[in-house]
Amino acid sequence: MKKNAHDYPALAEGQLRNSALRTTDARIKVLAALLGARHALSHQDVQDMLPGMDRVTLYRALDGLTDAGLAHKISGDDRVFRYSAGLEEAEAGDGHAHQHQHGHFKCTRCARVFCIENVDEKLFTTDMDARKAGSAATLRQQLQKILHSTLGKGFQSHDIELTIKGLCADCAAQSR
Ligand SMILES: [Zn+2]
Ligand SMILES: [Zn+2]
Repeated sequence: MKKNAHDYPALAEGQLRNSALRTTDARIKVLAALLGARHALSHQDVQDMLPGMDRVTLYRALDGLTDAGLAHKISGDDRVFRYSAGLEEAEAGDGHAHQHQHGHFKCTRCARVFCIENVDEKLFTTDMDARKAGSAATLRQQLQKILHSTLGKGFQSHDIELTIKGLCADCAAQSR
């Protein structure tokens, strides 16, 4: 989908209407801010973009959007939660969206976090799916093996959090 700067409130409203959430002005504004951002936003980032919004309302809007699967929450090693909205998440729209897993890129200089969409999904598929598809060992299978050899049989991973750290394009250009 094309990202047109003027469409975010309309896009946000449409996603909310298709979700289990009640459409409120605050949710529309917060979701529109997330949809329009290239990188994930912290509470503070959203607050800065919506200075008129009450703090508690903002927290509730972010939590509601996350619970409904319209946004996802990324925990950082700096103890700051960041939020991002993606189009895939919105399409589930049943209020219980199963989020497809994806990796993140974190810039170690400016601390911006970017979602890595379009990662080969095979990396994250379950062993069962991979066998069906006849594909080579997925990252998940390899990690499962490591789990078994270090922790013992019986340990089952169900989530992989992948964060790549480095410099974003802006910071890399500045350090040259
Ligand atoms: Zn950066
Ligand atoms: Zn993400």
